[in-house]
Amino acid sequence: MTWINRFAALGPAFSAEVLPSPAREPYWVAQNAALLQAYGLPQEWLNNPEALAVFSGNGLWEGMQPIASVYSGHQFGHWAGQLGDGRALSLGEFQTPQGSYEIQLKGAGKTPFSRMGDGRAVLRSSIREYLCSEAMAGLGIPTTRALSLIGSPLPVLREELETAAIVSRVAPSFIRFGHFEHFANQADNLDALKQLADFTLTHYFDEVEHSLGNPYADLLLQVSLRTASLLAQWQAVGFCHGVMNTDNMSILGLTLDYGPFQFLDGFDPQHICNHSDHQGRYAYDKQPQIAYWNLFCLGQALMPLIDDQELAMKALEPYKEAFTAHWTAHFSSKLGLSNLTDDHAKTNMGLIQDLLKLMGSERTDFTLLWRRLSHAAPHSESSAPEWQAVQDLFLDRESFKAWQAKYQSQLQIQSDDCEVARMLSVNPKYVLRNHLVEVAIQKSKQGDHSEVDTLFNLLKSPFDEQPEFDRYADLPPAWASDIEISCSS
Ligand code: AMP
Ligand code: MG
Repeated sequence: MTWINRFAALGPAFSAEVLPSPAREPYWVAQNAALLQAYGLPQEWLNNPEALAVFSGNGLWEGMQPIASVYSGHQFGHWAGQLGDGRALSLGEFQTPQGSYEIQLKGAGKTPFSRMGDGRAVLRSSIREYLCSEAMAGLGIPTTRALSLIGSPLPVLREELETAAIVSRVAPSFIRFGHFEHFANQADNLDALKQLADFTLTHYFDEVEHSLGNPYADLLLQVSLRTASLLAQWQAVGFCHGVMNTDNMSILGLTLDYGPFQFLDGFDPQHICNHSDHQGRYAYDKQPQIAYWNLFCLGQALMPLIDDQELAMKALEPYKEAFTAHWTAHFSSKLGLSNLTDDHAKTNMGLIQDLLKLMGSERTDFTLLWRRLSHAAPHSESSAPEWQAVQDLFLDRESFKAWQAKYQSQLQIQSDDCEVARMLSVNPKYVLRNHLVEVAIQKSKQGDHSEVDTLFNLLKSPFDEQPEFDRYADLPPAWASDIEISCSS
C-alpha cells in the first residue's frame, strides 16, 4: 500500500508532525467492510491485529506520516482564534480510481493544538460519529465516512468517567473554512493563505469553471454552491448539525464533525439539539442562514486574494438562490410533485409551507409523516387506510384533511405513478434517531456491540422497507425527549 501526504508536504506552517498516543488493549467495536471494498482497500485489514494497532494509534504502516493541522475559527458567532486538530491526526492519503482519500484518527491523543483538552474521544460520542457518518452516506448526503471504530479501556474524564474510543474517518480532504481563516488572520502570512487556496483549487476543484475571472472568487463561489446543496439536503431529512462553527465547515461541502447532531423527531422548526447552545444559534430553521454567515467568514478570509469586495459578494450571493432552488426541489419531490411550470411551483410552495406549518404546530413526527405520505399518495380514495395512517399523526384532523384535499388535487394534475413511487426513495423510513443510537451506546458500554452493527446495516439502506426492523421506524419512546446531547465528547 502506498501512502502519500500532500497536506503534510505544504510545510510546517500548516501542520505539525505528531505520533499517535497508544490506547491500551484496543478492541474492535465496528469495522466498515463495505467501505474498505468501495475504496479498494485490503479486506485483510478486517479483524487484523496490525490494522487494529494502526487504527487505534498503537502503530503505523510504512509511509504513513501522521500530522495535526492548524486552523482557527468562529465559534458560536465569536472569533475563537487558533484551534486546530486537537484530537484528530491524519495518517496519510491513499489513491483510488475515484481520487485520493485521507484517513484521520479521531481521539488518538494530544497534539500541539489540544489546548486544554486530552486529545481523546469517548466511546459514546465515537459511536454517534461512526453511525451518523454512514447513515448520512446511506441517505445520499455528502459526508466524511467512517472506516472503523475501536474502543479501549483507557479512562477518559468528561462529566463522568468514561472510556476512550478512536474513529478512523475518511474524506478526500478535511480542510475547513477555519483553515483559511487561520492564515487570513496572520497579517504576515498571506503567502500561506495563497498556498492553501492554490492547494485546494489544484487538488479538489480542478474542474472549476472560471466564471468570475479570479480563481479565489471562483473557489468561494463553488464552496457557496456546494454548501447550499448540502444545507438543503440537511433540511430535507430534518438533520440538525448542532455545532455549525466555521471550524466544522468542510471546504468540500461535506457534513463534518458529528457532535450533538440530531434527526428531528417531532417537527419543531426552532429545535435546538445542542444542550450547550443556549441562544439557539444552531436551531434547525437557522441552519441555512448560519451556513451563509459562515461562508461570509470564508469570503472575508479570502479577501486578500480576491481583492474586490463586489466580486466576493458575487461569489457569495448565489448561495441564497441555490439553497432555495434545492430546498424547493427536495420538498416538492418529498411530496411527489414536479415543479414543471411556474404555476405548479407556486402551488407546491404553498402546499409545502402549509404542511410544515401544520406539522410545526402539532410537532408531527418528521420522518414518519413523509414516509406515511409516500404510502398514501398513490391512493386517490381519501379515506384509504394509508391516508388514515397519515391523519392519525394529527390531532387537528380537519385542518389536515383540508390540506390533504388540496394536495390530492395537485397530485392528480402533476404526478404520474412513477413520481409517486419515487417518494419512497426520497423519504427515508429509517434515520438515526437519538434514542436508537442511545440504546446502541448503552449496550456497547456493557461490551455488547451488536446494536452498533444492527443500526449500521439498517441505515445503509434507509429507504428500503426492511419490515423486520419496523420498530426502528416507530415514534420515539417518551424517554427520548430526556436525552441531552451537549458538546461534551
Ligand atoms: P469540536 O467542538 O469538537 O468541533 O472541537 C473544537 C475544537 O476543540 C477543535 O480544535 C478540537 O480539536 C478541539 N477539541 C475538542 N475536544 C478535544 C479534546 N478532548 N482534546 C483536545 N482537543 C479537543
Ligand atoms: Mg470540530
